[in-house]
Amino acid sequence: MSCAFDLTHYRELLTAGDYSWATFDREPRAGDLLLRHDVDLSLDAALAMARLEQELGARATYFLMTESRFYNLGSHAGRDAIAELRELGHAVGLHAVYPKAQLDERFDPVIAWHNPDPEYMSEPIDGAVNVMQSPWFTPGHYRSDSNHHWREGCPHDELASGALDWLQLLVHPEIWVYEGTTMRETMEAMLEAKRNEWVDALIDDRIDMT
Ligand SMILES: [Zn+2]
Ligand SMILES: [Zn+2]
Repeated sequence: MSCAFDLTHYRELLTAGDYSWATFDREPRAGDLLLRHDVDLSLDAALAMARLEQELGARATYFLMTESRFYNLGSHAGRDAIAELRELGHAVGLHAVYPKAQLDERFDPVIAWHNPDPEYMSEPIDGAVNVMQSPWFTPGHYRSDSNHHWREGCPHDELASGALDWLQLLVHPEIWVYEGTTMRETMEAMLEAKRNEWVDALIDDRIDMT
């Protein structure tokens, strides 16, 4: 099995073990897989991943930004994306930029800081679960795929063997949905997709592209 960052291996990861799909609405317990997606760059990638998960019977929590430079949650596309994530059965939390932890009716009361500094990363937040606070974050029960790299190795073997009692698994959709063998290649593929999306948006906006 190749540990590629693509949807083929993602499917293998999700179907490797026999875990229960859990969200952050209660403390983790034995057998839980807390599937977390920080959506940093692309709502389209989040939706592609969300549809695949629904097909596999998986449930995840999507953390969306209100202050992203790369997408606009207040646009039609943004509102449609949240609605579709909910329809697919996923939970939606806030991917917040410190210190603004401003929840509204679009979000469940759960927050993941974007690129957090160690000083506040695991601090409790008033009125919401911080995904990096104990017990949701517990050393040995956490894996993340940042920048085409599993710091502690790809977890598919441990998921398959049940070696992990429970796990919070952080997966960034852009890395898996767009093709490439390096982060740079994957980002180039995403930029090409975004270019096409923007051309369509210009036409929608009555810009003459003929
Ligand atoms: Zn793997
Ligand atoms: Zn982030």
